[in-house]
Order: sequence, then structure tokens, then C-alpha cells
Amino acid sequence: MKYKTLKGLQDILPPEISIWQHIEKTSREIFCTYGYQEIRLPVLESTDVFIRSIGETSDIVEKEMYTFQDKGGRSVTLRPEGTASFVRAYVEHHLYNEPAPQRFYYMGPMFRYERPQAFRYRQFYQIGAEAMGIEEPKIDAEIISMLARILGDIGLKGLNFEVTSMGCKNCRPAFRDALKNFLRDKLGSFCSDCQRRFDLNPLRILDCKVPDCISSRQGSPPVTDYLCADCKGHFESLKHNLNMLNVPHTINPNLVRGLDYYIKTAFEVTSESLGSQKAVAAGGRYDGLVDEFGGPPTPGIGFAIGMERIVPLIKDSMKNSDGPDLLICPIGEEASEKAFLLAEKLRMERLWVEANYVGSSLKSQMRKANRINAKHIVVIGDSEIKNGEAVVKNMVNGTETKSALNGEELAKTIRIQGIIPLK
Ligand code: ATP
Ligand code: MG
Repeated sequence: MKYKTLKGLQDILPPEISIWQHIEKTSREIFCTYGYQEIRLPVLESTDVFIRSIGETSDIVEKEMYTFQDKGGRSVTLRPEGTASFVRAYVEHHLYNEPAPQRFYYMGPMFRYERPQAFRYRQFYQIGAEAMGIEEPKIDAEIISMLARILGDIGLKGLNFEVTSMGCKNCRPAFRDALKNFLRDKLGSFCSDCQRRFDLNPLRILDCKVPDCISSRQGSPPVTDYLCADCKGHFESLKHNLNMLNVPHTINPNLVRGLDYYIKTAFEVTSESLGSQKAVAAGGRYDGLVDEFGGPPTPGIGFAIGMERIVPLIKDSMKNSDGPDLLICPIGEEASEKAFLLAEKLRMERLWVEANYVGSSLKSQMRKANRINAKHIVVIGDSEIKNGEAVVKNMVNGTETKSALNGEELAKTIRIQGIIPLK
């Protein structure tokens, strides 16, 4: 084979694509109920957009960005995540002038030059949401509840919602000092990355995935012990609001996010079925980020769902659910012409219709019906043409219904069967 996808990239093919579409459709429906509107952003941005916001000592900026010079000599980067691009657009288009909360969602590919492994790709897709302009912790609980609803309606089960507060620029220095005091004499047992992080960004040590680092940091002081009065109050209200909305969650004071812009609320959704890459979604509050981009001080909170990590979790339950609403099986030349025409008519009724063209045996047409997962079949032979009537067989429950052999009647019969919703 001469050409292959690049390492860490993948083609998404049918039938798996139907799972992706199901996830996207469900998310859009739920976003709508909360007033989130779609925003489409370029995949390429000026490199500074990411360095400023995500932070120079983050994994993403240190080693994961696809950065290159364009033909004009500008440094550009394929977006590694959505929030930085979103905030750039939010400020560029003065979206802060709209009444708060301004709520947006996006879907699309992200790029990180990571070591490819199961559930970790170099191009991966995220579905993200951002709510702007509200400081009140009700919006934190609302967005986490929406995330739970999206993941639940997609069909995911057994997820763990972990929530914490990461403090703010007022209380983080005290936590940072306490953490450094705890780590100082154990530093030798951490990986070289963590040893470097000790001075640059010690909080990142709490996010390191190296097993030795995980065990060496056991017993580290919880960030929630160091919150200032404002952060503490915010965190208490968040917990209260989550309970009010019945969002099952656990408090994980050791949770930290790898991006620098998060303050106060941070959360992660994990699934034990995924092994070590178990985070399916994550997010948090980023109140200082809009100012960082030159906009007026504006609170914001958001999350991103990793599509590649949720697809495998629902794959089995969704197997073979996709297939044409109707397969028309003609016997003979005249029937073949009729099938050809009927298929076109039924497509005008917005049904997915396949018609066999070449005259093959009924047996092989039945085999095809099963292979392509047809929900109904109708066999047309000489007598059906003569009587203007045929039997529609429901392949899911086996029932048979007579129908006049014209587009409108057939469409009605198929919809009444209930597998395809009535228009
Ligand atoms: P991880 O700890 O797994 O590296 P992260 O903290 O880097 O995740 P975020 O930047 O918070 O991830 O992105 C949100 C979600 O996007 C993650 O929870 C995960 O589901 C997904 N994700 C991140 N990186 C990848 C990747 N390389 N391949 C597939 N999905 C990814
Ligand atoms: Mg990562």
C-alpha cells in the first residue's frame, strides 16, 4: 500500500460514523434546550493564541502543538483545544456586548502531537461548550448538569463526575507553597518532567500520569484546604447547586487540570472501562482569560468531551442499528423498472430507500436485506404489479402489511410500522 494515514490520525468510516452522528445529534439537541448556540472556529490560529492562554509550562505548549511557519513567515498552530480559539473569537467580535450569559458550543477536530496509544490520537474530536458572563456558581452546576444529560442521553453509563475547586490567584500561592513543602524532600522519586515542574509549575505535578509520580504524591495537601473566602463560598454553592439538580458527583480535592487558565471550579468525567486514558470529558472556570485576550473582565466556564473516548463505550449497544428504511426487491425486468421509480418517489418522502437493480434471485436479495440491515422489504413481481398492491415486511418484528404499490401509500405504511417516526 502506497499511502496510509499519518501516525495517530484515523479515518472514520461507516458504519461507525453513525455512532458519531448520534453523539453529535444528541449533543445539539441538549445544547438547544439550554440555549447554547453553535460557533465554528478555524482550525488554524496564530501560535500566540495558545501560548498565552494555555500556559508555557503546560504539556500542550511544551511538547504537543503542531506549530509551523506559513508561507508568509507567520507562526501558526493547529488548534490543540477549543477554549483559547473561542475566547479569541469572543473578544474579536465583542460578543461580551450581548446579554449574559452568552452560551456557545462547538464540535470539531483538535490536534496534539502526543504519543499515539489506545484512545489517544494526534487528531481527535471534541464537543465543547462555553458559558460567558456569569460569576454565580449556578452556571457551574448548570453546565455540569448539562454535560451529565448529554453523556447520559448519548447512552453512557457508569461515569464518575469528579469536581473540585482550584482556587484563584489570591489563594493559589499559599497552596503552591504548601505543595512545594510537601514535595521538596521527595523530589528524587519523581520523573524528570516533574522535577522541572517543581519550580516552574508545581501544580502540574499533580496531573502527571507516570505511576511513580502518582504514588510519590500520595498524601499531598488538598487544594480545597487553602481556598480563600471567595473561592470557598463559590465551591460550597456549587456543591449545593449540584445536589439541587441531582447531579451525582464526587469531590476530588487532588484533581487538577493541565491548562493554566482554570480557576475555582474544575471537573473531569471518567469511565473505568477505558483503562488509563479514562477521562471522557473535562472542564472548568476561566474567569481571567477574556482580560488576557484584551477584552473586559468576564467570567467564563466550559468543558470539552473527547469523542474518540465515548464512541467505544456505546459501540456495542448501537451495533447494526443503522440501515435503510426499505429495500425494494424486484423480480423480473418490469418490476425492476417499477422499483427504480418507486425508490425515487419514496426518497421524496424523506425515507432511506434502496432498490435492487439487477435481477438476482429472491434468496440472494433476502441475504442482502440482512447484510445491509434493511428495516423493511417489499418484493415486487408480476402479480404485485398487476394488482397494484404488495406486502411490506417489517424485518425487525416480522409483521407483514399490505400496501398499495405507490410512493405515498408505501411511505405511510412504513412510517405507521413505527420504526421510522411519522413526519
Ligand atoms: P488527558 O489527561 O487524557 O491527556 P487532557 O487533560 O489533556 O486529557 P483536555 O485538554 O482536558 O484533556 O481535553 C478534554 C478531553 O479531550 C479529554 O478528557 C479527553 O477525553 C479528550 N482528549 C484529550 N486529548 C486527547 C487525545 N490526544 N486523543 C483523544 N482524546 C483526547
Ligand atoms: Mg493531555
